[in-house]
Amino acid sequence: MTRYILHGDGDNFFASCLIAKYPSLRGKPLVVGAERGMVTALSIEAKAIGLARGMPIFEVRARFPEAVILSGDYKLFAQVSRRMHSLIEQTTDAIEKYSIDESFADITEAIEKRRSSPEIIGKEIKERTFIQLGIPISFGIAPTKTLAKLVSTSSKPNGFRVAMTDKELSPILSEVPIEKVWGIGRRTAIKLRARGILTALELRDAPVEILAHFASPIIDIQKELRGTIVHPINKEGALQQSMISSLSFPATTDRTFIHKEFIRHIEHVCARLRKHEAVGRTFTIHIKNSAQELRSETCVLPQHANTPGTYIDHFERLFTRLIKKGERVRTTGICISDIIPQSAANTSLFDHRDVRENEIYATLDQLHKRGLEVKTGTGI
Ligand SMILES: [Mg+2]
Repeated sequence: MTRYILHGDGDNFFASCLIAKYPSLRGKPLVVGAERGMVTALSIEAKAIGLARGMPIFEVRARFPEAVILSGDYKLFAQVSRRMHSLIEQTTDAIEKYSIDESFADITEAIEKRRSSPEIIGKEIKERTFIQLGIPISFGIAPTKTLAKLVSTSSKPNGFRVAMTDKELSPILSEVPIEKVWGIGRRTAIKLRARGILTALELRDAPVEILAHFASPIIDIQKELRGTIVHPINKEGALQQSMISSLSFPATTDRTFIHKEFIRHIEHVCARLRKHEAVGRTFTIHIKNSAQELRSETCVLPQHANTPGTYIDHFERLFTRLIKKGERVRTTGICISDIIPQSAANTSLFDHRDVRENEIYATLDQLHKRGLEVKTGTGI
């Protein structure tokens, strides 16, 4: 039976939240990222005058004196995010809170119960979120999550679109380059391009034999593009997924040794994340001491990541808080959770450094595969 899957995705989410809070910013070229010295998000007006993500703030100041430069307000972003999810929840509890500014919801029951249509129910949600939050969110409705994501993206900015039939979906899919399809990593995209599959539409219509050389997720993606649900709404969200690395050793007070152990855990878990083409965001470190006492410290990264540098930046602060002076430690471990596919991470949240680090680690991973021993330093 056909389901109606809704996908909502905030437009320029960080910038939009700040504009909603400070209406005098509306219409101005707004740049977020003063706290990091680099542009991490921008308003439509900022994009229009040639500003881009990753640009150093000093360059923005020099070249774009008209730009308004602000720091990220992560408390505000989290608040708006929670309200956005709960406003969609007023229509259905079959909701997956996918990321800070994205959610999937199955609105089939709501449509049936009210003998309504996806257009009416979807527009209601759109209007409710816009009135209550004052930020633009683009919505798409389609038979699967993969399709709904493409439909909402195609409706941006501040759009709303329903596409349930082949006739409605085909023109949308023909415009989507293959690497923009949810779940398709950079390497897979290169391989698909080599076989002449350049768009989402071409992947949907590709004969299954052509895909035989690929790992099974690609078949699942094709099924989803053809309208068969492979990935149902996950009410628990991605938050349940986590990766852990932990190791015990003879109890020691040697901070340098303990520190090194943690760095190894971080490198280990990040390598696993990259292997699965995934990124994580919630970061916990824990120890057990010689008195068998277990303690931990947690933080949430400003964006999803799978390279050690980003985690190490936050690790130092957690480490200082966690380890007491002279404490005899016998186990160290870390846990990274809130894991999502890399392709699904909001790339507007990635700055220059992440991109550079990602490239470096992609190269290192290749060398590892070839069996070369590579030492990954922490100075990257
Ligand atoms: Mg967004």
